[in-house]
Amino acid sequence: MTARLLDGKALAARLRAGLAERIAALPFRPGLVVVRVGEDPASGVYVRNKDKAAREAGFASRTLHLPEATSEAALLAEIAALNADAEVDGILVQLPLPAHIRAEAAIAAVDPAKDVDGFHPMNAGRLASGLPGLVPCTPRGAMHLLAEAGVRLRGARAIVIGRSQIVGRPMAQLLLAADCTVTIAHSRTDDLPGECRRADIVVAAVGRPEMVRGGWIKPGATVIDVGINRLPDGRLVGDVAFAEALPHAGAITPVPGGVGPMTIACLLENTLDAALARRSGPALSGRA
Ligand code: NAD
Repeated sequence: MTARLLDGKALAARLRAGLAERIAALPFRPGLVVVRVGEDPASGVYVRNKDKAAREAGFASRTLHLPEATSEAALLAEIAALNADAEVDGILVQLPLPAHIRAEAAIAAVDPAKDVDGFHPMNAGRLASGLPGLVPCTPRGAMHLLAEAGVRLRGARAIVIGRSQIVGRPMAQLLLAADCTVTIAHSRTDDLPGECRRADIVVAAVGRPEMVRGGWIKPGATVIDVGINRLPDGRLVGDVAFAEALPHAGAITPVPGGVGPMTIACLLENTLDAALARRSGPALSGRA
């Protein structure tokens, strides 16, 4: 048996095309502002990609690039101004921030109704409480891929490896909301291979190249590999040993071309949701 590939690039392109159609039919252009502070080179690439994708889909997108020396108070004042700007539907503060700025302060300063990253404690709490809100983009993208795979979620055993605020925790909440029986594994988990072998759905979000071995995958399981790791030889690999996992898994996301493209598509989806919820109804009613 060889696993079916879950093509995130193609699915993201379809999602983005669908969003572009919906935006073209609106009487306004939803606005996204990406806030970048300083010169982190990787952030530069991410911010450009987000801005380009947003413009292509028809959003009014701009980047607010502040100097490295910007104080925390000055950043919070900029965020407050964006919160108050009626044309701005989504605000994303690109991480990492310079060391003198507390990321949690910047995240908490964003209006939860405009928090298209879904990182605000209010949105995290709403997700954990089973209430509608804005959901972090990468887990939202992973859920789309699972839907595309057509796998049964209700009652299935899922393992999420990694417990970060950005990926692992919200992913586990979404799987729980979809009626999976969820295990959250992390760096202190005893017998990770054994936990993994029981899972019908494996979501790896660790940040360790090819840590999840093929023999850890239950035959026929669906594998969502969130990891993006650059090897010394320049190759990009996931957290799952892809070639080893292929003969075991029923379906698997490649790296690159799996979860990665879905993250930006879901940022756009969140921005449209935020725009529609904010402009037409009660705040935070936007989660699909
Ligand atoms: P993180 O470093 O914040 O969290 C990693 C988690 O992995 C931690 O909770 C830790 O407990 C767990 N972990 C570490 N070592 C472990 C081990 N040996 N066994 C089991 N668990 C272990 O990372 P993150 O932000 O959640 O990102 C995880 C990976 O996903 C990274 O490779 C990152 O680049 C990638 N990522 C990809 C996208 C995307 O769009 N595809 C988005 C965000 C993150």
